[in-house]
Amino acid sequence: MDFHGGLKLPLNHELTIDKPLTLAKPPRKVCVLLSQHSGSPAVASVAKGERVKLFDVIAKAIGAVSCDVHSPVSGVVEAVDEYAHPYYKYSQGIVIAADPPGEESGALSFNEAQRFEIDEIAELAKKCSVIDTVSGNKPLHSKLSGLKPSQVHYFIVSFVQNEPYIHNMETISHNYMDEIISSVSYLGDALSPAFIFLAIPYHMIKLITAIDNKLNKNRAEYKNFKIVRVTDKYPQANELILASSILKTKINPSKILQNHKCLILDASTMFHLYEALKFKKPQIDCHLTVSGYGITKPANVKARIGTYISDIVEQCGGFCGNVNSVIVDGLMSGYSQFTLDVPIIKSNRSITVIPTERLSSSGEEKCMRCKKCVDMCPMGLNPARLNFISRSSAHEKAVEEGIYSCIECGVCSYICPSRINIAHSIILSKKMILEANIRRRKMNEPI
Ligand code: SF4
Ligand code: SF4
Repeated sequence: MDFHGGLKLPLNHELTIDKPLTLAKPPRKVCVLLSQHSGSPAVASVAKGERVKLFDVIAKAIGAVSCDVHSPVSGVVEAVDEYAHPYYKYSQGIVIAADPPGEESGALSFNEAQRFEIDEIAELAKKCSVIDTVSGNKPLHSKLSGLKPSQVHYFIVSFVQNEPYIHNMETISHNYMDEIISSVSYLGDALSPAFIFLAIPYHMIKLITAIDNKLNKNRAEYKNFKIVRVTDKYPQANELILASSILKTKINPSKILQNHKCLILDASTMFHLYEALKFKKPQIDCHLTVSGYGITKPANVKARIGTYISDIVEQCGGFCGNVNSVIVDGLMSGYSQFTLDVPIIKSNRSITVIPTERLSSSGEEKCMRCKKCVDMCPMGLNPARLNFISRSSAHEKAVEEGIYSCIECGVCSYICPSRINIAHSIILSKKMILEANIRRRKMNEPI
């Protein structure tokens, strides 16, 4: 399975791929951000001085595309204020001084049920605030609520990840394979799709073999499961690209379910959904690949949300040498951090530390019209032209040129021999168009 454009990137997994998944040290203090997903941030429901228990709701969802936020520790609320956010610079957050390890309360009980109705699954996903990391980190319940079995013909579970230094999906899948396959079965039983495709890239050979062995042990139970090997090219993990390469058709971005009867979730989301279904456990942790040649002890870390990046860096032996940047969630589509006092959120996948000597310091040069960006854009856009239009703030023209189809993968910036940060100008322009539309809507002007 392949797609147009994209890039085969060096995976650089050698630092971490054979290391076990380790638990981050229990944090002494957490900062739980209220923007844990895309959509509306939650609103704090606790105040300074209040005692909270592990899993307590500390912020309430606002609207349909929003989730409650649960406390990842037991402790006392120290402050509710604005704090650094790994994606948006700042967000409201709740700082909690955690109880010493061993004094945590918050019990979970096992649910024996082996079948769940789809409404029940959506409700538990909502109650436990599970995030759908394949669809722009939206709350999972917003995808599942109101879904009817007849609406899903294809159910694709993505194990795909092919950005340098990141393999947390593979780590989760090896560590929790039974849980992931069980929750795929629960959702499969509830929706009865004709096909359940497990999309795994070629380079994850060990995972393909392990899952294949598991399915072969009980073919009757997994009769509609099929492993689909997909290319190792980036950005194969993108929901649209994955769906179109598996279903071999052009996909309408906003209508994957309606037009193509295709539901896509990823292995990480399926694991957190399993914990919600079987233990009613709120999603309070994430799995990170902490890597790069600027960190002393690269590791695979399971950490509570709200843990500061500085604590994780310290646990991994600190920096080695001069560090140029600390990037959260990937060199291609992630975010360079301006401080280490930034807490992790549910959707985080990686922390990559890049030493100074690994980066070229030269700046942008003039476009030489080589068209490499055009050839490689997986969405068939003309990135050079979009870059020019975006930098001239010609918003209407940018929309005509298809700026909304850009999936912000960064392939164009990576491939550009003139080192032009094309993706950055496009993302900025999209943001400006969105803000202008909101302003016009408020003033009742036509968009
Ligand atoms: S960032 Fe946008 S324009 Fe650039 S390659 Fe990706 S989809 Fe194309
Ligand atoms: S890759 Fe860079 S230099 Fe080549 S056409 Fe695109 S923007 Fe211009």
